[in-house]
Amino acid sequence: MPPAHPFDDDKLHEECGIFGVLGVQDAANFVALGLHALQHRGQEAGGIVSHDPEQGFNSARRFGYVRDNFTSTDIMETLPGPLAIGHVRYSTAGSKGQTAIRDVQPFFGEFSMGGAAIAHNGNITNANALRRELIERGSIFQSSSDSECIIHLMARSLQRDIPARMEDALRRVEGAFSVVAMTRTKLIGVRDALGVRPLVLGRIGPEENSGWVLSSETCALDIIGAEFVREIEPGEMVVISQETGVESRRPFRQKKPRFCIFEQVYFSRPDSILGGRSVYETRRQIGVELAREAPVEADLVCPVPDSGTPAAIGFAHESGIPYGMGIIRNQYMGRTFIEPTEQIRNMGVRLKLNVNRALIRGKRVILVDDSVVRGTTSRKIKEMILDAGAAEVHFRIASPPTAWPCFYGVDTPQREKLLAATMSEDEMRDFLGVDSLKFISLDGLYRAAGEAGGRNNSCPQYCDACFSGEYPVEPADMIEKGFKLKTAAE
Ligand code: SF4
Repeated sequence: MPPAHPFDDDKLHEECGIFGVLGVQDAANFVALGLHALQHRGQEAGGIVSHDPEQGFNSARRFGYVRDNFTSTDIMETLPGPLAIGHVRYSTAGSKGQTAIRDVQPFFGEFSMGGAAIAHNGNITNANALRRELIERGSIFQSSSDSECIIHLMARSLQRDIPARMEDALRRVEGAFSVVAMTRTKLIGVRDALGVRPLVLGRIGPEENSGWVLSSETCALDIIGAEFVREIEPGEMVVISQETGVESRRPFRQKKPRFCIFEQVYFSRPDSILGGRSVYETRRQIGVELAREAPVEADLVCPVPDSGTPAAIGFAHESGIPYGMGIIRNQYMGRTFIEPTEQIRNMGVRLKLNVNRALIRGKRVILVDDSVVRGTTSRKIKEMILDAGAAEVHFRIASPPTAWPCFYGVDTPQREKLLAATMSEDEMRDFLGVDSLKFISLDGLYRAAGEAGGRNNSCPQYCDACFSGEYPVEPADMIEKGFKLKTAAE
């Protein structure tokens, strides 16, 4: 398993990426490439299940990067067939930091009508209650992952085919889920009714004999030369076979979609398309909005690489202040060889980022970053910039203050560890020790994401719970554990 990055705990982490391919020779090879393109969504472990008409189902699950495991002929030769799905994970709600290989997806179940494998991105907010009920009724769980509930719910369904059993199972599940699943002959994709997590459909191969692809993001279609067809809609299930093509079903009660707005800010790759818009363009536009909302006199706009870059470009363009690479990222920072010892941890940010002193010296610098979570990294970056001789340091943040945890498939610290949960903006500015600190407003973020009128407060267009504290699905498991929802006074 790759060692934790010395400051990985100061970012929110998407917990999973999912990918599936039907109708091409050695589909698992395409899945491996797709998972490689989705590696930013989870670096802890990955797995692939394939099906071959002669050899049946096969699976491989490994800790570490896709490129370190699923490029080996020894592994890939064990995954034959024209149908495969895969999963990369950060860690699930059940076992942060202590993942066992049994927690690595896809999960597989053998049913009377044949086997099925499933890979899940998101988080089931009523998993504890479901798990208790299932165990009481005789289910034997093999992992600590909430996603395994789906397989057990499918096993209990009385429906006659696997897609119908999956519909039954997912109707019992609350929270956020995008699912890619497979039977012996079918590739299945599902998004929850709110469409919190992304899922897209693509085609691969020549028109007369093309296969189908499901992916968390469009950037992973590009890597295998697949053509983007459309997004799976919120609340939609697609059941795909080579014979019948794509059959669209609507298993859930219709709701107003609430896509995760943080995908726009940080999780998705900037070369992906979300909701018909380029993620890069949305992020650049966030910088434009931020420059309008929070202007400041300065000499240089610098991104905190890499995720702050598009917003910094937009900020510089709108403000007319020159853009420069004041911080350089070491692309080869040793995730693969550095043991995270205490001494190395103390070096912290310097392992990965270095200041371009010649550019910074004597300047009033605007640093643009995607978010502030605990604030520990922001403080270190500010120190590096001041050490390099900057005259002033101003932080501009491309998301509103992250004051609430996410319970929909994103790893967030407990609420009391979030800087914005315990401090006002001025207190955060003083804590970070910068000359000024401003976050984009929720309305500004919505405008940048294409909602010209800003946030519709009576019926928000996105999930923004980590900023607003308004959870579109009640996090039942967490409330049971003592989590307090936002009160009218807050
Ligand atoms: S709480 Fe935040 S990170 Fe989680 S789904 Fe909602 S917007 Fe995304």
